[in-house]
Parts: sequence; C-alpha cells; structure tokens
Amino acid sequence: MRAGPSQEEIRRYNLGTLLRHVHLGGPTSRSELTSRMGLNRSTIMALTADLAAAGLVREELPRETGRAGRPSLVVRPESARIYVLAFDVGVDRLVAARVGLGGVVLDRREAVRPRGTFDLAEVVATLAGFARQMHRKTRPDTVCVGAAAAFCGAVRESDGTVHFSPNLAGSLADVPFGQELSRKLAMGLPVTVGNDANLGALAEHSRGVGAGSRNLIYLHGDVGIGGGIIAGGNLLGGHDGYSGEVGHMIVNPGGRLCGCGSRGCLEAEVGERALMDHAGQSGAVGRQAVRTLVDAADRGDIAARDSVHRVGDWLGIGVANLVNIFNPEIVIFGGMLRELYLGSAAQVRSQINTSGLPVARDGLRLRTSALGDDVTLVGAAELAFAQMLADPLEVLARSSN
Ligand SMILES: [Zn+2]
Repeated sequence: MRAGPSQEEIRRYNLGTLLRHVHLGGPTSRSELTSRMGLNRSTIMALTADLAAAGLVREELPRETGRAGRPSLVVRPESARIYVLAFDVGVDRLVAARVGLGGVVLDRREAVRPRGTFDLAEVVATLAGFARQMHRKTRPDTVCVGAAAAFCGAVRESDGTVHFSPNLAGSLADVPFGQELSRKLAMGLPVTVGNDANLGALAEHSRGVGAGSRNLIYLHGDVGIGGGIIAGGNLLGGHDGYSGEVGHMIVNPGGRLCGCGSRGCLEAEVGERALMDHAGQSGAVGRQAVRTLVDAADRGDIAARDSVHRVGDWLGIGVANLVNIFNPEIVIFGGMLRELYLGSAAQVRSQINTSGLPVARDGLRLRTSALGDDVTLVGAAELAFAQMLADPLEVLARSSN
C-alpha cells in the first residue's frame, strides 16, 4: 500500500495553489483565499508568509473595505519582480515579452517576419536579441523563473523540436528550436515550446473567455487552421503533443486543394486564402486584409459578403463535427477566425444546428477570443509559469542562482 502524500508534498501543493489563485485572479484577500482553498485561516497565513518571505507575493491592507472591523489583508503577486520570458513565432511576426507574475506584460518587442520561411538562426537571434534588450532594463532584484514559446506549426512536446516545411506535402524538417533559443539566451533556462493553437486554448482557459470552463475548443486561424482542445480541464496533447490538427479534418470531400495534399480540409475551405480567393482578391494576405474584407461584407459589398458567408458555412460544418466529438461548453475563435466568425456567425450557428447533435449543441457557447492578437503570447507566458506554479519555492531557488 502506498503511503499518502507527505506534509512536505501537501505544503508544496498548497503553496502552488495559493500562488496560482493570485496569479490568475489578481490581488485576493486572505479571507477569500481561505474560502476558495477550503483551508483554515492559520494555514493560509502560514502559506502566505512563506510566499511573501520568498518575495513572490506581498501582503497589503486593502485600499477601502467599506466594512466595519479588522480588514483582511490582500495578497498581491510581485509582478514587477518575478517574471517569465514569453515568445511568439507567428506566421507574420516574432514577439518577445517579459511577463510578470499575475500576467502583466512588463515589456515587449516585435518584428515583422516574412511568410513561408523559417531560418532557425535568424529567428533565434532576433528573439534572443529582444530578450537581452529587455533584460538590460530590469532592476537587479528581478528574477526570471521560466521561458516558453508559441510556434505556428507542429511541435514535439518532449523537446521543443518544431517541424517546418514550406509546403506541408513536402518532407518535414526537424528544427531544434527550443534548444537553440535556450542556448542563445544563455540564461541557463530551458525554453518550453508549444503549438500556437494549443497555447491559445491554454490562454483562453486560464484568463480569457474560457476561464471556468473545463471543456473548451479554441480554433486559431491564419494561413492554416489549428485547434487546441481542453477536455476535463486538461489540454489534449496526444502521443507526442501533435493533437488538435483540426485544420486537416475533411469538411468538403473533393473540395479545394490543401497544402497537405488532400482536398476539402477545413483549412483549405476556411483559411485566409479561400476567403480572399472567393472574394476575387487572391493577392491580398494578412490579418489586415481579412479585416478589410469582413468590413466590406458588413457594409454590403456583395462579393465580400458571399465569400464570408460561404467560408462561414464550411467553418460551421467543421465546428459541428468537433462539437459532436468533444461536447465542449464553449468554442472560441481566434486569429483571423475572430474576424471571420464576427462576419458569419449566422452561417456558423445554422450549420451547427443542422449537423450538430442536439445533446452536444444545446447550451454551446460560441465566442471570439478575449485576448486578441496576443492570445498565443499569453499562452506562452502561462506555459512558462507552469513549473513555478507547481513548486514555487524550489523553482525560485533554482532561478535565483
Ligand atoms: Zn489538409
């Protein structure tokens, strides 16, 4: 028979849980932590004291209580002192940010990236350069407790290797992105890497419109379509972390040719290219072009409207399939799908009503991403904080050396 958790394991778990409450919920009173964590007041006081002594949180009197009696101290994350490095390798841009405990973006740098290329040395040098510039501006008592990157493509979870191919049908090249970025940063920090749609799901689940939902699907669109699925509160990774490639689900057999070599995949019918082609604007690319097209559709431009509605129908069929399989409470549209959904909500809903099982679609909420263009970056920051939140004092001690 296995013995139960030791006192030390329980303490570690409680420290992490308390810190997570403050990280995700912002400044929280001791009395509120007591009721949320179901622990007694003296335990909360001891845990808070440990975290405060380590410099992870500080306790303050609330500004106004409006109540008689002794006010409960408010526990705040030390956002300016404890931070992570978050990176985002998007289709069109590279972003690096310093994100403080509590999710505050303290500093950020961004560069435009040419589409369809991935020069490992160049990408890594740009991101590491940004990190160094930001690091030079930090106070001496700040501590970086983790680093993670969102990548717009397939990522092997175990080692941060990314698979890049300009054309999906071609052979995939394995690129040791996480390892190289870590080496170039030279801060002794491993860089965890995640697929952008998976991290978008994590971000919306942690601090976006999906907060509080245990079953959600986040769909991310740019040139391709990716998905992140949270089932029972956990991100579905699959065997190697490649789960969620919903863009290659067939929605229109014999339809448009896809980059993967198949026809009628969700991303071939719904991606940016399909939207532009149907509107007779094949040359236009990028998020701004999508916004302009959806705006034109709103104003009554017939070609634009027909394209948005047609593509919205395919999106609805894709979502109906996902809803039947996963029974989510909420489906969230991010990236260019945010604009597309806003322009075609009626088509999407109608296809779900036609093809979705009543038991799965009743009560389903459809929403756009609350975190906007930074959703994948926010997801990378949450991934970077994950270890710290699992074992705060140990990770802090390791990072401070
Ligand atoms: Zn495909």
